[in-house]
Amino acid sequence: MDYKLTYDQYQQGLERGELPGLKCNTCNNVTFPPMARCRECNGTDLEITEIAGEGTIRTFTVIRIAPEGMTAPYVVAMAEIDEGAWVMGNLVDLNPDDADMNLIGKRVTLGSHVVKGDTYSKGDSRVITFSLI
Ligand SMILES: [Zn+2]
Repeated sequence: MDYKLTYDQYQQGLERGELPGLKCNTCNNVTFPPMARCRECNGTDLEITEIAGEGTIRTFTVIRIAPEGMTAPYVVAMAEIDEGAWVMGNLVDLNPDDADMNLIGKRVTLGSHVVKGDTYSKGDSRVITFSLI
């Protein structure tokens, strides 16, 4: 199978401050983070596109017991980006103790930061971050 955007290419894009996603030439859906197939129609006719980098928080949780390599507490959120995909990331500019239901519907910008690898990963990796607008 021909992968338009591999995990390593995605990670390198994040490192450069880009937000590389995939646009489907069959149904115009944007898949982000990138996957092997379109999340909407399962098609494989995809092209690399740059995500605009804004979205709306749809749900979140506060992690109080961290997995290996992470420091609690921190906020994990799902945001619907303006291109339509739902993306998971860390809400980074809010004290986790201040997280409440008022976060739902708030606008955010997307970025990324490095998280430490754990016993089961191949090392450090970049994950999506959200900052309140
Ligand atoms: Zn599609």
